[in-house]
Amino acid sequence: MNILVLNVGSSSLKFQVIATDLDRITRDADERLCRGEVERVGGEAIVTFQAGNGSRHKSTAPLRDIGAALDYVLQWLVSADSGIPHISSAKDIHGVGHRIVHGGELFSESALITDQVLKGIEDCIDLAPLHNPSHIKGIMAVRKVFGPDVPQVAVFDTAFYASLPEHAYLYAIPYHLYQRHRIRRYGFHGTSHRYVAYRYRQLRKLTREQTNIITLHLGNGASATAIRGGKAIDTSMGMTPQEGLVMGTRCGDIDPSIVNVIATKEGLSTHEIDTLLNSQSGLLGVSGLSNDMRVLSDELREHDDRRVRLAIEIFCWRVKKYIGAYLAHMSGADAIVFTAGIGENSAPIRARICAGFEWAGFRLDEQRNQKLIGTEGEISAEGSTLRGYVIPTDEELVIARDTARVILGEPHPS
Ligand code: ADP
Repeated sequence: MNILVLNVGSSSLKFQVIATDLDRITRDADERLCRGEVERVGGEAIVTFQAGNGSRHKSTAPLRDIGAALDYVLQWLVSADSGIPHISSAKDIHGVGHRIVHGGELFSESALITDQVLKGIEDCIDLAPLHNPSHIKGIMAVRKVFGPDVPQVAVFDTAFYASLPEHAYLYAIPYHLYQRHRIRRYGFHGTSHRYVAYRYRQLRKLTREQTNIITLHLGNGASATAIRGGKAIDTSMGMTPQEGLVMGTRCGDIDPSIVNVIATKEGLSTHEIDTLLNSQSGLLGVSGLSNDMRVLSDELREHDDRRVRLAIEIFCWRVKKYIGAYLAHMSGADAIVFTAGIGENSAPIRARICAGFEWAGFRLDEQRNQKLIGTEGEISAEGSTLRGYVIPTDEELVIARDTARVILGEPHPS
């Protein structure tokens, strides 16, 4: 089956087409046919297309909305020039899988999109006002562009956390606030944490029940998850993606009373403070320079700038704190797994985070760590009882496989 995987944002659309089915899943023989992105939808959009592992083509086109962008993508997919095998009309797309940020308490697994499921995604708009409306536009656009009969599947970022116990997802605020407004931890990046946990147990030839790891998704957004017996038992992101680790522009954990202090001292509204803590804080806020860890790492190496050093130190300190907390919750783990932009590519940041975990059985192999840039493998030394791994994430693969499984009526195992 050719599955179109879509991640629709407010003015962007990312896509991949992946050939997968139950047999390919078993043999790990899924095939990525193409990928691409449409940015700045609404004006002169920037379009990037890549067939297979071929070269990337960039162009611009006036695309007024997500529907127009999707139609443009379809025209490319079916054109003879695109060089994608097996796709010559819309009928050659057998299903569409959507990344959906928030499924609230309604969805604990991926679901075939019916009108009822669409209503459920709508009901979660309150929880993800910036994301879910765009996802709904994407689903409606697919119905229009590909026709109403193409099956669509929703894969939720939050679903992996349906296994969190109450004591991990409830906040210690008056209980009625949970009852009235569903204020609780939901967790995000679930598809990414789920993928690396799956891949880890494949590499180590373990069953799901034997998988006891701490996964660190360190990208522009960052989160840590404690996985015991293959299930998430805690995660750092909360009701929104703001909680937990220090991120590119998000502060992560802070004393909640700081909001009131900022409001009083700076005369800002709660909305303005929310923007400040989400878009002007984190690595950017502390360094005053950039949210991009590459820029900060270069700056540190070349000029040893004090605030850049501090930003990186605070980032790593916070990650260590979560690892320590999760080791306690899990009574020890078998491995720490790094993924996403920083986790996959920055050996120095990994080394900083891992330093000092010898007490827990972790010893870094410097050479292995230096060598693993964007590739998969172990970074801990022989004999470590707490191992370290780097596993590049692949959320699109999980979405494609879930989509195929749901369409074929198979319960999904990972
Ligand atoms: P997103 O959360 O937007 O998907 P990514 O997973 O793409 O983010 O990660 C982006 C982050 O990864 C950026 O901060 C970028 O600087 C960082 N990154 C990528 N490569 C490196 C590298 N070699 N060294 C340090 N940071 C890197």
